[in-house]
Amino acid sequence: MSHSFNAYALVKQAIAQLEEKLLKRTVRINERACNVDALVGGRVLKTFCSNDYLGFANHPALVAALSEGAQEHGVGSGASHLISGHSRAHDLLENQLARLQSAHIPHARALFFSTGYLANLTAITSLIGLANKGEAHIYSAALNHASLIDGVRLASAQHQASVTVFDHLDLAELEGALIKDTSPLKLIVIDGVFSMDGDLAPLHQLLKLAEQYDALLMVDDAHGFGVLGENGHGILEHFALHSERLIYIGTLGKAAGVSGAFICAEDSFIEWVIQKGRPYIYTTATPPAIAHTVSKSLNLIEGIEGKARRKHLNELIKLWNQEMAFSSWEKIHSLTAIQPIIIGSNANALLASKLLDEAGYWIPAIRPPTVPEGKARLRVTFSANHTMDDVKKLIEVLQKIESSMLVGDAA
Ligand SMILES: *Cc1c(COP(=O)(O)O)cnc(C)c1O
Repeated sequence: MSHSFNAYALVKQAIAQLEEKLLKRTVRINERACNVDALVGGRVLKTFCSNDYLGFANHPALVAALSEGAQEHGVGSGASHLISGHSRAHDLLENQLARLQSAHIPHARALFFSTGYLANLTAITSLIGLANKGEAHIYSAALNHASLIDGVRLASAQHQASVTVFDHLDLAELEGALIKDTSPLKLIVIDGVFSMDGDLAPLHQLLKLAEQYDALLMVDDAHGFGVLGENGHGILEHFALHSERLIYIGTLGKAAGVSGAFICAEDSFIEWVIQKGRPYIYTTATPPAIAHTVSKSLNLIEGIEGKARRKHLNELIKLWNQEMAFSSWEKIHSLTAIQPIIIGSNANALLASKLLDEAGYWIPAIRPPTVPEGKARLRVTFSANHTMDDVKKLIEVLQKIESSMLVGDAA
């Protein structure tokens, strides 16, 4: 008998190839609650890599809210939202989330999801499902998050939508494509803050294009919600945008410090998602205790504590932008808590990350396919729990490591 297909042998071979290309990733165990100090393999590491921008992930008030929520609602929801899993806590949270975007989206209504990944899949496929087959055209920014890319792929496979990938720094190219487009349904999809570069999408111009060419604009604000805008409402507040063409996606596991995500849009679209959004319908509702905890986090975000933390975070970012300079590495210009340093090769990015680890810092090397080939990087992120001194020390350590690697090259 011949063995024509041996899946596990192929798996081993494929993993060996990843290892060879320095693309194999590893999971590390942190023995502590998420904060700026982690305990990994018996060593304490200063972390500059989480998305816990406001330092809420281990906030005592939120820890208390989660147990309070569990006392009141139990630990599981028991069913999907359309069966019996939708609780009072979910309803309150959705109303609160809608209120945060109501200055920007007319008739705003919000829908809560267990993850941003699911929210993105749902928003894109539900919207594109409105068009007849082949009559929708999606414009997707090249550096979009994987969950948007997968949502676009799924929508395009299900509904034969056309897809144009555009460079968010070259809107002339985008406009050139929109001018010629006669599709009844046009959607522009974009990250609000680019997750691996830290820059903001030019939403003013994009909204103008959306209005001019009759398109909708979907913004994934995973890294802006909680941190951008005077009240932490996110990128729409930051740019003071207002339009019925906006579909907003916020996530709740980053600055909000908990878990989950939401779509916020004009109420009729949300009603449509409830009817037709498969990843919304066919999944168990998030535990109500989580919704209860997120509600408390929103209060913190909007309150004086949120304001103070955003102010401190911005001071850390300012310090970094003033003091951090490299001779061979490239610091990408960013005004957000995401501060990438392009190293180039996978090998050098891994070496820099290893040297940082030896110096007591946790900053992983981000490699393809998360970032383009040859653009491997260190993605430094700040949290309001970092001190000014933490940032100063990090700058010194990075400069030392860069020079030691330069010397290494010359030798
Ligand atoms: C993290 C992230 C997501 C996914 O959100 P989860 O809640 O972690 O699933 C989506 N979009 C962007 C831009 C992200 O950075």
